[in-house]
Amino acid sequence: MSTQEQSAAASTPEGTTHSPDVVVVGAGTAGCYAAATIARDGYDVVVLERKTEDEAGHIACGDALKGADAFPESIPKSHLEPAFTNTGVDHGRFEIPQEDTVLEIPIPGELAVIDRWEYGRRIIDGAENAGADFHYDTVVQNVTQEPDGGPVTGVEAVHKGDPRTYEAEVVIDAAGSLSVLQDHVDFSNSTFDTNVDYSHFCSAYREIVHVEEPVEWSDALVFKPTERAAGYLWYFPRTETEINAGLGFQMTEEPMKLVDDLKYDLENRAEFDGAAVDDKLGAALPTRRPYDSAVHPGYVAIGDAAGHVNPTTGGGIAGAAYAGKYAAEAIIAGLEDGDLGEKALWEYNERVMDHFGARYAALDVYNILSTAVDVDELMGLLAAMPGEKLAEALYSGSTSIGPKLALESLLNSRGHWGTIWNLFQTKRRADDLLELYEHYPDHPAALAHWQQRRDELMEAVYETTGADPKY
Ligand SMILES: Cc1cc2nc3c(=O)[nH]c(=O)nc-3n(C[C@H](O)[C@H](O)[C@H](O)COP(=O)(O)OP(=O)(O)OC[C@H]3O[C@@H](n4cnc5c(N)ncnc54)[C@H](O)[C@@H]3O)c2cc1C
Repeated sequence: MSTQEQSAAASTPEGTTHSPDVVVVGAGTAGCYAAATIARDGYDVVVLERKTEDEAGHIACGDALKGADAFPESIPKSHLEPAFTNTGVDHGRFEIPQEDTVLEIPIPGELAVIDRWEYGRRIIDGAENAGADFHYDTVVQNVTQEPDGGPVTGVEAVHKGDPRTYEAEVVIDAAGSLSVLQDHVDFSNSTFDTNVDYSHFCSAYREIVHVEEPVEWSDALVFKPTERAAGYLWYFPRTETEINAGLGFQMTEEPMKLVDDLKYDLENRAEFDGAAVDDKLGAALPTRRPYDSAVHPGYVAIGDAAGHVNPTTGGGIAGAAYAGKYAAEAIIAGLEDGDLGEKALWEYNERVMDHFGARYAALDVYNILSTAVDVDELMGLLAAMPGEKLAEALYSGSTSIGPKLALESLLNSRGHWGTIWNLFQTKRRADDLLELYEHYPDHPAALAHWQQRRDELMEAVYETTGADPKY
């Protein structure tokens, strides 16, 4: 274990060098939970954040927090709760204009709509209380590494124009979507997943809108398809009169004009007459399967930087928090044993797959399907499906429909039977994939064989859905 002296900064004409045990890049959910967990164990952790202290935690988001009842304990839930501005939300409201239908679908588990910036400040505060140190205004520009794809040894950053070097036992990449760090690491000596393409991401944008009268749907998350299958609009009520309104589209599609398209929809909803907008933010989020492996000697990627987002809902806060915890615990074990190699860190990959990664990989199959089917056809079918079963499918990656429900759905869905058959076949492919992910390898040497079997299943997914290969 290190002492304060070891992390103290040393200044030279080339800049300042810091030497903590662990460097975390990014003060988002993943970074804060990882830092809090490691700091609580007595290790010296520095979190580097490119934003200023005032701006840190201000992150583009729909503000819907699912599963807050079971968040990691390194930052006490009671510390976050003041940011939960609406805990009365219990269902999704799916507006399907093509069918002139609104579906009300229960959402399982605890759900809150939050003041995201306040939550962002509170997780930083929670990690600080646990003992982590935050360096703001610090933009990481490079990763240092031993030659020929050897262990990562630290990062190089710029703090208000001055160069800074951080040397650490391990670097945690919590820098979010399209993390720049991964461009600077030579992963040729590990199985770290480099099969990442911009088309695996969704471009999203949101505004915080204040309305004069309380909205009628303050107990619901409102979803509405955009004109194309690969995008949707959302209206999430932070309070009865403060709404997070946003939209996103998969980057495989023709780019949408996010600001204009949102404006158009807002102008056509009576409840937003006279509304005022006070905050606008946009960002990319991964809508893909989780990385096959997110570890390299001395380096671990977590949260959006490792694809830990539910690819059908875009929800990534819970995955980021848990990835932070699992990575931190593998790192603590590695620091204790003096081994931060790929094999030593592997348990982190296993825990991610076991908790949510397998499920997200199966859900990605439906995402792939949505790029290949006609939006009107899909919406027609959605309108005919039983709501609880849809909710189950959306969150678990799998669902089963009993004979009575199947018959009912079938009668309701005359005219969509071709799509139903397609969906049924796709579900079988998703179930096969889920089963394979349940047997995710327990050491890096077995990954290549597992990937080969997975890729065969993905071939079947493309064949069944008619979609272009995604990976
Ligand atoms: C528009 C939108 C809506 C969303 N809606 C929801 C939702 O309703 N519910 C939900 O659960 N999820 C939602 N998500 C996803 C969710 O926001 C992310 O999954 C989650 O924030 C991931 O956390 P993270 O810690 O991995 O990354 P982030 O929260 O993105 O944090 C990364 C941090 O790293 C910093 N950083 C990046 N590069 C550097 C660098 N080079 N040097 C220093 N610092 C750096 C950034 O400034 C940032 O603070 C949404 C995403 C978007 C874009």
